[in-house]
Order: sequence, then structure tokens, then C-alpha cells
Amino acid sequence: MSTTKTTSIEVIRGDITKVHVDAIVNAANTSLLGGGGVDGAIHRAAGPVLLEECRTIRNRQGGCAVGDAVLTSAGNLPARFVIHAVGPVWNGGNSCESELLARTYLKSLEIANDNGLRSIAFPNISTGTYQFPKARAVDIVLSTVTEFLRESRRISRIVFVCLDEENYQLYRKRIPM
Ligand code: ADP
Repeated sequence: MSTTKTTSIEVIRGDITKVHVDAIVNAANTSLLGGGGVDGAIHRAAGPVLLEECRTIRNRQGGCAVGDAVLTSAGNLPARFVIHAVGPVWNGGNSCESELLARTYLKSLEIANDNGLRSIAFPNISTGTYQFPKARAVDIVLSTVTEFLRESRRISRIVFVCLDEENYQLYRKRIPM
């Protein structure tokens, strides 16, 4: 008998540093040394261990490319791990930004999957300082997740954590309560 596992996809409005999941995703930059926005919030809430681990990874592999991601522990956060993913800077749309955003989400999901993690929370990567258009990002994110779930259903819960109202409304329209 075959059973079809379902993955719950949720949208919440709020601060990703408060979310209890196996892994939260950080919108990191290529240096992995922390920054503003959600990156700053995650480093502040997690404590210095996060930066130490990021530095170790940076010393080993020289930062993190756009579209790629790395895994660390989560310090004082309620989550168990942080996946530091580097989204693209929006540059008008002709610099492979859409493909790179898709790759950023896919890589994060693969890291979670490969480490046996069952729940993952994403912020709206690249839609803050990096200025990726929000509506376009939602389309890319949801098609990437749908495609990923066709291949693997080991992750049972995916949460989109929206700090700003515009992103929250865009996701709410697409994901029923
Ligand atoms: P990027 O440089 O990838 O654009 P930002 O951190 O500037 O990253 O913004 C990415 C998104 O994260 C924005 O939509 C912003 O509103 C959101 N954000 C900022 N702080 C938090 C937080 N504490 N929890 C969840 N989302 C956050």
C-alpha cells in the first residue's frame, strides 16, 4: 500500500527569529559575515556562535556564492539550525536574477532535506535591500517549492515568514489558510 505524505505550507506575518522549526533560512550575503535586515536580526538573536561558525565556513571555502547556501547551528534561536542562503541583488532583470532566486530556495530545501530536517522557515529573500520585485519573487518561490515537492516529500512543513504587509498579502493570496 502506498501512502502519500503531504507537506504543509504556511504563511505567517512576523519575525523569523521567533519561529520554532528545524531550520530557519537567513538572507545572507556572500561574505557570510552578517549584515542588516533579517541577517542582522538573526545574528543578534542567535548570539556570537553564529558569526564564529560563519567565519569558519568562510575561512574554509571563501564565503558563499549567490544562489548557494550553508548550514550552521542556531545559537540561542528556537530553531535548531540556520541555513544561510545568498539571494541575488535585483539589477533590472537581465542578470539571471530569477534563476538565481530559484536556486537560492532550491539549495536551502536540498540542505534541509539532506540533513533530515523536517520543517523549514523562509524570509522573503532578496525582496528587502536587494530590491527583487516582490510579486515576481512569490511566483518564483512557489513554483520552485512545488517542483521540489514533486521529487521529495521528506520535509513536512514549509513556513513563509513575512515581516512586511505587502509580502504577507502576496503570499496569503496564493496560499490558503
Ligand atoms: P535582502 O538583502 O535579501 O533583500 P533583507 O534582510 O534586506 O534581505 O530583506 C529580506 C526580507 O526580510 C524583507 O522582506 C524584510 O522585510 C524581511 N525581514 C527583515 N527582518 C526580518 C525578520 N526579523 N523576520 C522576518 N523577515 C524579516
